Amino acid sequence: MSRGLAGEVWATMTETIDLIAHTALRDLQAFTKKTGQPTKLELLDLTPMEHVTNIEIDEEHVTITYNEETTHRYNAKAISHLEWTYKYNTDPEFVQAVKTVIDLARKHLRDLPENVACPPGCAECCSGYEPFVSRADVQRIADHFEIPFERALEDYVVQRPSADGFYLGYLRKIEEDVATQCIFLRGKGSGHYYCGIYASRPHDCGAFTPIGCDDVDADLKHTSKFEPGSPFGPKHPPTLPKKRRM
Ligand code: SF4
Ligand code: SF4
Repeated sequence: MSRGLAGEVWATMTETIDLIAHTALRDLQAFTKKTGQPTKLELLDLTPMEHVTNIEIDEEHVTITYNEETTHRYNAKAISHLEWTYKYNTDPEFVQAVKTVIDLARKHLRDLPENVACPPGCAECCSGYEPFVSRADVQRIADHFEIPFERALEDYVVQRPSADGFYLGYLRKIEEDVATQCIFLRGKGSGHYYCGIYASRPHDCGAFTPIGCDDVDADLKHTSKFEPGSPFGPKHPPTLPKKRRM
């Protein structure tokens, strides 16, 4: 249970999102007929949306934590743990608006199936956007490559610190033009792209949703088979013992 800035108790914000309800299942079956994707719930990538275990509100952030046993499937890879952070200001009316948006999103959750996963190999968003990175994101990338924090910051981040210090900058692109590909994007051409640091990618990337995405490569099929290739090769070799923290 969370408490708003104005002192009101928001019991509804911790309720379970039930995708197993019959209406959702019927929608999934219709989705299968249309797209050929499996209907069996355990084969679908819906688990990340099943449970919100906690919503913390402090002076600067709304942090929503999903069940930590979540397994998120990206092509052939299984990923666990998803953490989303939404920033907001201290205006109680704005906080109330955030609550309303969350409630609305839950209400419409069962409308999602046809857009619940990106077509394999699509990565339009990895060129068109600049994912912002926080200190935690840079640390995760540093741990991934077993290099010092400062090395990761230098090699992979265009530094543009935010006024409150939460974000340190955005991920480097392969060229200075921000419309070019993310430095970590791998694969040759649409339908073959994949993230070279998927498990350690910034939260901004993980929070980017295919739901209602206008950038999708419409020529790609959700049912196509795709295996990601080798991971991104770091600019500098590991210099730290595995798992070392700052
Ligand atoms: S880190 Fe990965 S998911 Fe994020 S923009 Fe780069 S290639 Fe895409
Ligand atoms: S469908 Fe949209 S969100 Fe998904 S990879 Fe393609 S451009 Fe990105």
